[in-house]
Amino acid sequence: MTHTLDQLQISLPSPEQRITPDWKNAERLQIWVKRDDLIHEVISGNKWRKLRQSIRYAQTNHIQHIVSFGGGHSNHLHALGYVCSALKIKLTAIVRGHYHNNDTPMLRDLKAWQADIQFVDRKTYQLRDDDAYLAALSQQYPNAMFIPEGGSSAHALTGVSEILRELRQTYDYILAPVGSGGTLAGLIAGASAQISDKQANIIGIGVLKGQDYLEKLVSNLLLKQALGPVQQANWHIEHGFHFNGYAKTTPELTAFCQHVNHTLGIPIEPVYSGKLFWAAKKLIEQNTFAKDSRILLLHTGGLQGARN
Ligand SMILES: *Cc1c(COP(=O)(O)O)cnc(C)c1O
Repeated sequence: MTHTLDQLQISLPSPEQRITPDWKNAERLQIWVKRDDLIHEVISGNKWRKLRQSIRYAQTNHIQHIVSFGGGHSNHLHALGYVCSALKIKLTAIVRGHYHNNDTPMLRDLKAWQADIQFVDRKTYQLRDDDAYLAALSQQYPNAMFIPEGGSSAHALTGVSEILRELRQTYDYILAPVGSGGTLAGLIAGASAQISDKQANIIGIGVLKGQDYLEKLVSNLLLKQALGPVQQANWHIEHGFHFNGYAKTTPELTAFCQHVNHTLGIPIEPVYSGKLFWAAKKLIEQNTFAKDSRILLLHTGGLQGARN
């Protein structure tokens, strides 16, 4: 029996939903949400976009083992674990930190999906993109395909850029959270391919302290696609909304997430989408966008990561 991508039943295109939030100045704009959180009940939105091309590659080349990296709540490892289990590909998950005695819901799912989990200390984990470390790992796991943390391989940009082609209308601004940069780079690649006077401005919302670092990640991914600065659509990253670091939150942000859930009926969590919506609210309050601008928030999914 062969296992195909179709059997995963990914539901694309995802909906574009108009919202009218109770934020100051929001009535001057048209705001929409691209609901990539709805494309699958297990596979987190942007993680599927980033993985699709790699998984397709693995299948055409009969690769039966994938090695990848992530933290104990990683949406990427979770999505990859589910996909590998469904397609009968072996997954080795290299996980930062030691969770032997305190599992997370994500790790419990990985175990249920029969992933091989290898815990490494923080120092080793920092080597996840180091050539010598990766060379040693490929000796240990011959014939395996390696996917970087967050799924942000060069392959990932193609899958993400399809979001732009899926859109039913044009937007002046597209906002998305930034972690490892693959999603933003994919959006920039997609926007850069649009007819030039309709190109959307792409705004990343940094979810961790990463001024300069995040820009560099994104630029490097774009360069690998031969997209130099001149060919790139307008983009920048906002660094004022990370709440002091990755997965850091405050009672105010948590309450805001609940308020959005209740008033707009859109589930968001504090690590990614909560910071995106919060940033949108603040930027709109500050009148950052001209009247009647059309704004799209990319809901990247990731609700599994908020489980306790
Ligand atoms: C991983 C993730 C992101 C960040 O995407 P990058 O491509 O790593 O920048 C954003 N939102 C969610 C829900 C994620 O899981």
